Amino acid sequence: MTLRPETLAVHAGRDDLAALGVHAPPIDLSSTYPLLDVEHGGDSYESMALGGEPLAAGGMVYQRLWNPTVARFEGALAALEGAEAAVAFASGMAAVTAAVLASTTAVGRRHVVAVRPLYGGTDHLLASGLLGTETTFCAPGSVRSALRPDTGLVVLETPANPTLDLVDVAAVAEQAGDVPVLVDNTFATPVLQQPLRWGARMSLHSATKYLGGHGDVVGGVVACDRETAAALRRVRAVTGGLMHPLAGYLLHRGLATLPTRVRAQEASARTLATWLTEHPAVERVHHPALAEDPDGVVGRQLLGTGAMVTIEVRGGYEAARATIEALRVFTHAVSLGGVDSLAQHPAALTHRPVAPDARPAANVVRLSVGLEAVEDLQADLDQALRAAARTVGVSALAG
Ligand SMILES: *Cc1c(COP(=O)(O)O)cnc(C)c1O
Repeated sequence: MTLRPETLAVHAGRDDLAALGVHAPPIDLSSTYPLLDVEHGGDSYESMALGGEPLAAGGMVYQRLWNPTVARFEGALAALEGAEAAVAFASGMAAVTAAVLASTTAVGRRHVVAVRPLYGGTDHLLASGLLGTETTFCAPGSVRSALRPDTGLVVLETPANPTLDLVDVAAVAEQAGDVPVLVDNTFATPVLQQPLRWGARMSLHSATKYLGGHGDVVGGVVACDRETAAALRRVRAVTGGLMHPLAGYLLHRGLATLPTRVRAQEASARTLATWLTEHPAVERVHHPALAEDPDGVVGRQLLGTGAMVTIEVRGGYEAARATIEALRVFTHAVSLGGVDSLAQHPAALTHRPVAPDARPAANVVRLSVGLEAVEDLQADLDQALRAAARTVGVSALAG
């Protein structure tokens, strides 16, 4: 029976619970595990050191190698992504780090091709060469010409942060040929987009955002095939960027409501985006429902338009700053994807480490739309935009 996302979200990763005699997933906080005997312990250790699973009960050895609470979350996320496996990490950036290391320096192919725009932290990690890589940044149509014999990875994000640009994953995967493609799927979530279906090797999430959904957990996860999962687990085991079991529990719990949250937040975001296009204090609205989409990404690859809205405010930096500071229902904070709405200034915060020529403009405000009544969000944005326009004297709103 093929289960739909709403059903998988509630049931996946819970197969072993009935046999354990429990209804909610138990949280296993063990740092170490009693071993059956020396030989079994050693064999299980070796299996996990090579990126495999523990050898049945009594073989978990040590939390850095395996944790059953985290493994349930990984199983559930893999099911939602239509993937064979998933590997969870301490944060989204730990996941990016492991994916880059496993595909480049670990296999002697140190060149990365990265499609801009990317999350500021990812951009900075790749631009800095901190992991021993060398990166060529390019537009989605130029991936083929950016490839080198030593290219180990192609990285892209869609919808991208913060412009919400859309990238056709299949078109990039076709250009990449044998080189694995990593898609940062944080903004879309597996509810709206399953990158592996379009030829990506890895679908990565900052689980901190929509997967957790409540602003109380930091984590990262990569959905992929079994072989790639083994490579990622090997990196995780030696670099130690593992997810804490409490985070695994909260994320697994968060997945149950993910499809419902995403659809409700998406509906409000669409209403606000459409309304904002008519607002006199707004120069431009970026949202997948309003985007140029020559490749037909929306409706095919992206099964919805998501809950992020990015606006360019009239009156430059001062107007953007004043808008953000005047919001009352939206919280001025980085991060996104939670039940409560957030607003932030990408050039000052999330995209500060990005090279100046690739940094978002000074009048850009990024909105993460939550589960509040859309009328309240609209009224809040309206009063903030008008107050800001008055402060900086934008003429369309004076009087
Ligand atoms: C937040 C974010 C990250 C980094 O994740 P952390 O959990 O903060 O380490 C990566 N990619 C995108 C698109 C993000 O929004």
